[in-house]
Amino acid sequence: MFPLIKDILAESPESQEVVIRGWVRTKRESKNLIFIEVNDGSSLAGIQCTFDRASSVSENTVINTGASVEIKGRLVPSPASGQAAEVAAVSLQLIGEAPAENRPGTNGQPEVFAYPLQKKRHSLEFLREIAHLRARTNTFGAVARLRSRMAFAIHQYFQQNGFQYVHTPIITASDAEGAGAMFQVTTLDLEALAKDGKTPDYTKDFFGKRSFLTVSGQLEAETYATALSRVYTFGPTFRAENSNTTRHLAEFWMVEPEMAFARLEDNMALAEDFLKYVFNLALKECAADLAFFDAHIEKGVIETLQSVVNSKFTHIPYTDAVRELEKAAAIEGTFEFKPFWGCDLQSEHEKFLTEKVAGGPVIVTDYPKEIKAFYMKMNDDEKTVRAMDVLVPRLGEIIGGSQREDNLEKLIERITASGMKAKDYSWYLDLRRYGTAPHSGFGLGFERLIQYISGMANIRDVIPYPRAVGQAEF
Ligand code: ATP
Ligand code: MN
Repeated sequence: MFPLIKDILAESPESQEVVIRGWVRTKRESKNLIFIEVNDGSSLAGIQCTFDRASSVSENTVINTGASVEIKGRLVPSPASGQAAEVAAVSLQLIGEAPAENRPGTNGQPEVFAYPLQKKRHSLEFLREIAHLRARTNTFGAVARLRSRMAFAIHQYFQQNGFQYVHTPIITASDAEGAGAMFQVTTLDLEALAKDGKTPDYTKDFFGKRSFLTVSGQLEAETYATALSRVYTFGPTFRAENSNTTRHLAEFWMVEPEMAFARLEDNMALAEDFLKYVFNLALKECAADLAFFDAHIEKGVIETLQSVVNSKFTHIPYTDAVRELEKAAAIEGTFEFKPFWGCDLQSEHEKFLTEKVAGGPVIVTDYPKEIKAFYMKMNDDEKTVRAMDVLVPRLGEIIGGSQREDNLEKLIERITASGMKAKDYSWYLDLRRYGTAPHSGFGLGFERLIQYISGMANIRDVIPYPRAVGQAEF
């Protein structure tokens, strides 16, 4: 395979012949020279190719921002500051043009509008409308590289620590798993049924029963954890959340480790070690992209990551956390939502706990059973469950997890109390009937992780093609 620009930039310039292939970012001209900056997405940095004006490389070719080119030349030390090397170019081939102005259709040639990514800085909102081109910008190139590297880092971390990668199903017939609204999957002709005034008969549906897109791979992951000891899933997850926030998508990627013979304390230790590992890798291996985020997206993002890596996560039971929040709420105007024992923590509460109470990452544990899922292990107080949420400064919740209920009777009780039928969970209950063991795990939203590392404010900007309420373009 031919070297990419990042490989060429890593070479020492000794006048060796190089070929550059990529897309033109900028073109400048001086009295004697033409400078073309080319980027191929392999790194934030592009490479400058310098042409002698006299050499008149393809005089008639119009080179605009966005055009694809192949440039041949020699790699030489650069006199310009900010770059060690540049290309003393000898030839240029225009591969694909990118008009700078609208061009009407002529003689059977289709009309082409001007390339929408001109040199100026575009708003993230505008770029969301042209998501098919936004990866060509510095910001979205950096996000894409970070996503790719972090996905790999996640596999590295778990594989190095004895976790097996399990592929849990995307379509599930398990009714509600308690995580949120689900998207239904059906092949029934709902329109025709509605026209005839009939209600759908799901026994005639593809799977013979109502089925949905998964909201979590956890229950199935538990079945493998109680066989292989340590497993993880990493795949797409769907929630029909009607919340229009900067932290929620309808389709996102979730990382879910599950460990047998592990209690909540082990789970908290895993979450902390895991986050530090991936943050550390981002700092080391995505340094240039992180420097870009720090300079252009969110000032201080590198320092935040470094401080998390060097911190000790604070552990605080929910009851104590609420006490702290109530104390703060005594001062009028601290919160929009009044905190009270039994409330779900709002993101303003989460922020307060990390930024004001702990001054760093916090793991809140032992939540009231009413606000957590049925599978979480009951504490002796019969009021709280062995849940944990990992909260980080700026973002709030990044991880949600728990020790699972491993006692058969108690789990049946919780299923029934949640208004569900134990027989629907027969296979899940088998894990408690045969060789039950304490086990724990958590879910990390991959996009929340990328948001945190990059400082990108809106979750829609850290996934190539966001799916959210009213949004499924491309
Ligand atoms: P939140 O309270 O933030 O809505 P949750 O309590 O519904 O999250 P869990 O069910 O615990 O979340 O899911 C585990 C993790 O998955 C969360 O900690 C978060 O990182 C991520 N996550 C949950 N919902 C979404 C979503 N709609 N879009 C992106 N990530 C999500
Ligand atoms: Mn939610």
